[in-house]
Amino acid sequence: MLTVFGSTALDTIRTPEKTLKDVLGGAATFAAISASHFIKSGLIAVIGNDFPKKYHNILSKYLDLEGLVELDGKTFRYDGKYDKTLSTRKTLKTELNVLANFKPTVPESYKKSKFVYLANNDPDQNISIIKKFDNVKFSMCDTIEFWIQTKRNSVIKMIKSVDAVVINDEEAKLLTKEHNLIKSAKKMMEWGVQYVIIKKGEHGSLFFFEDVIFPSVAFSLENVVDPTGAGDSFAGAMIGYLAKMNNTDLSTIKKSIIYGNVLGSFAVEKYGLDGLLNIKKSDITKRIKQYEKMVKF
Ligand code: AMP
Repeated sequence: MLTVFGSTALDTIRTPEKTLKDVLGGAATFAAISASHFIKSGLIAVIGNDFPKKYHNILSKYLDLEGLVELDGKTFRYDGKYDKTLSTRKTLKTELNVLANFKPTVPESYKKSKFVYLANNDPDQNISIIKKFDNVKFSMCDTIEFWIQTKRNSVIKMIKSVDAVVINDEEAKLLTKEHNLIKSAKKMMEWGVQYVIIKKGEHGSLFFFEDVIFPSVAFSLENVVDPTGAGDSFAGAMIGYLAKMNNTDLSTIKKSIIYGNVLGSFAVEKYGLDGLLNIKKSDITKRIKQYEKMVKF
């Protein structure tokens, strides 16, 4: 089993074509649903008592929700606006609400999870929760500008406490204060993390381990409508695939990154979470084959 911890949100997403108000989102939501296409995934997250029943139903269709806690108050909210190229997003508002003082616990049935993903979330909460698992074989975390700006030292501490970090290029540069992505990855490895995956949006990703660099392209798409959650879907697929294979050797990690690119591509084709819902195993396999054909020379 895989456990995913992080934000479950009501997102307002402003794209040039459409604005979605208070739709189901959150880094952990995208990651866990993406991972659920590979392995049973448990979600640890907090919602407020304004969380719509219809969104609860979506979560329960894909995930084990024993770790989902409802508190009095408002659900975490994120509001972001894309420019016309859909490649730059400006955060308009981050309202932590019930997430602010959440003290996460790990349900007994999740404690044996060998794979744990700490999605974008308060780094102090992420640090505290990873210690509560019995026997983690592979842990991975992500972060975002908001936490780097407000809790940089905790972000660094969190990175030290996991096996892998997955982070986007701009955030990697901001965090490490390096302009070059190789220097940036090396700095994170010096902090004590073994694997670094730097996501470059529509340009794919770079994976680093010891002296290995593995670049991978994104699955090329002509019609992108909403990139929200692409990075979380990438990471969820990655760790979901590793958990399914119960293996973290180098070639399995490289394959998991290709699954990450493919699930990220499903996420951006539709608004909100829709791209991740109702995809079949055969859709994933078909796209992996297309990807293989695309990069073979
Ligand atoms: P991505 O597009 O991969 O960066 O992920 C966007 C998701 O992350 C949205 O669904 C947001 O709800 C969530 N999110 C945005 N800011 C934060 C934050 N400061 N902490 C936790 N989750 C966040």
